[in-house]
Amino acid sequence: MMSDMRRTETAATTSGWTGQLFEIALMIVPGLALAACQLARPATAQIQPETTAQYNLTLKPDVTSDGTVEAIEVSSRLTGGLAEGEETLQLMAPIVYVNVTGIADRITGLEVSDANGPVTFATEDDEPVPGGYPYFRHWTATREVTFPVEISYRALIQPEGSPGGPAFGIRPSAGGISGAGAGFMIVPSNAASTQSVLAWDLSEFDAPSVGVTTFGEGKSRVDGPPANIMQGWYMAGPTGHYPEDITQGDFHAYWLGDFPFDEYEEMAFTAKMYDYFETYFDHLDPAPEYRVFMRLLQTPPYGGGTALANSFMLSRGPVTPEEDSDYRDIRSVFVHELLHQWVGFVEGGSIDENWFSEGLTTYYQYTLPFRAGEISFDDYLEGLNRLSRNFYTNKARDWSISEIKEVGFGDGEIRHVPYQRGALYFADLDSRLRAASGGAHGLHDFMSKVFRQRESGEISLTPDKWRALVSAATGEDETAFHNAVHVEGKVLFPASDSFGRCVKGVRTSIEKDGETYPAMQWEPAGDVAPSDCFVSGGSE
Ligand SMILES: [Zn+2]
Repeated sequence: MMSDMRRTETAATTSGWTGQLFEIALMIVPGLALAACQLARPATAQIQPETTAQYNLTLKPDVTSDGTVEAIEVSSRLTGGLAEGEETLQLMAPIVYVNVTGIADRITGLEVSDANGPVTFATEDDEPVPGGYPYFRHWTATREVTFPVEISYRALIQPEGSPGGPAFGIRPSAGGISGAGAGFMIVPSNAASTQSVLAWDLSEFDAPSVGVTTFGEGKSRVDGPPANIMQGWYMAGPTGHYPEDITQGDFHAYWLGDFPFDEYEEMAFTAKMYDYFETYFDHLDPAPEYRVFMRLLQTPPYGGGTALANSFMLSRGPVTPEEDSDYRDIRSVFVHELLHQWVGFVEGGSIDENWFSEGLTTYYQYTLPFRAGEISFDDYLEGLNRLSRNFYTNKARDWSISEIKEVGFGDGEIRHVPYQRGALYFADLDSRLRAASGGAHGLHDFMSKVFRQRESGEISLTPDKWRALVSAATGEDETAFHNAVHVEGKVLFPASDSFGRCVKGVRTSIEKDGETYPAMQWEPAGDVAPSDCFVSGGSE
C-alpha cells in the first residue's frame, strides 16, 4: 500500500438555500496515489505517442430515451507495462468514498483483455472503515498480462436517496452528468503509466454539449499514475459556461441546471475574487488555471461545495420558497472553495490538520471579501459575529480533535469546530504577530513567507515546523498553546484587536435554546474608519 494522500473538501455554510448544513472535510487516504495538490496541471502540453507507458480513456455518457444520463461507459487502454517490481496487474475502485457508498458495486460489465484474450480477476475488499471514510476493492489478475491491456466498464449513476455528503457520486441533471472520478472509476493501481489521457464521446447528447474535467476541456492530459484521474471533477452535457468564450482566460465555470441566481454573474464575481487572491497572495504566481462546476439536482443527496485541486464543485438541490433569496451565503461558499487553492495544507493526518486547511481558509473567507471591497463593513461585522456564535454555541466547541474525528461525517455541526476555532486562532495570531513586532508585521507578512517557503520546497510544513515558525516570530512557545487549542480543544477567546483596527472584540455571553455560553462579540471600534481597518498597524 502506498501512503500518499488524497484530499477532499466540502464547503461550509450554515444557512444555504437548501436548508441543510454544508460540509468541509479533509481526508488522507492510504492506498492511493498522489496528493490532490500535486496533480491536475492542465493538459496544455503535448500528448505523448501511445508507445509510452500511458493510460488512455474515452468516456461516453449513456443517455436514455427520456434524455437522462444513466451511466458512463468507459473504454480504456493501458500501455507500457507494470510498475517496477510488480508482477500481476491490479485494479482498484472505492467501495465507499467520503460517504458515497456502493461505488465499486456500480461498476458493471467490467471486461479486461490483452493479446491472449480475456483476463479474469480475484477481488479483495479492504476492511470497512466507519464514519464514511474511504476504503477500496482491489482486483488482482489471475494470470500474467501482455501490454497493451484493454479495460472497459459501465459505471452506473449514484442512486437518489443515497447518504448525504460531498458531491463525488455521478448524478444526472439538466440532461447532463457530473461527479468526481473517485465516484465512478476503477483504475490500474500498479501500472508503469505516468500519464493518462481523457477523451469524451458525446454522441448520445442531442444538444450541443461539452465534456470537461478539472484537467481541461475535451481531450486532456493528467500527469502521474492512473489513480490521479480520480482526483478531479467530471461534467458532460449541455452545460452553461463562463466566460462566453471558454478558450479565453484562466478561470472557467460550467453548470448543469437552473440555479436561483444568475450563474454568469456569480461566476463573474468568483472570477473577480480569483483575480483578487492572485494579487493578494504572492505564492502562486501566476495562479493556476481554475475550473468551477455547478450542478442542480432534483433529488437528494444534494451535496454541497467541495474543492479539489484547481477546481471546485457546487452541488445543490431545488429551491424552496423560504430560501431562494440567499445570495450572500452562496458567494461565501464560492470564496471559501476558491481559497483552498491558496491555503493548501500542512503535512499530516486529515482531520487532525483541519485547523490549518479549513481554519485558515475560513479566516480568509470572513476577512478578504471585506478587504477586497466586496462586502460592507456591516456585513463584515455580521459575518464575524456569526462565526463567533456558531463556534461558542457549538456543542463540540471544547472537544478534542480525536473526539471530533470519531464522529466522521455523521454531524455537520461538530465537524465544523476545527474550521471555526482555526479561524479564531489565525485572527488571534495576527494580533500576536503585530504585538511581537511592534506593529510592523502581521499575519499577512508571516503567511506570505510560509506559503512561499512551502511552495518552493524550502520547508516541509509539518505541524511541528508550524509551531517552531510561530514561536520564532512571537517569541513565545507555541507548542503548548497550539496543542491546547487544536488538539485538546481549549476554548479560545481571541485578542480584542484580532480582526483589524476598525473592529474590537468584547467578552460577552450568548444565549441559545435557554443556555448561556461565554463568547466573543465583535463591535465597531468607533474611532477607526472601515477604510483604515487594515492600513498600517501591521496587519498588512
Ligand atoms: Zn473548506
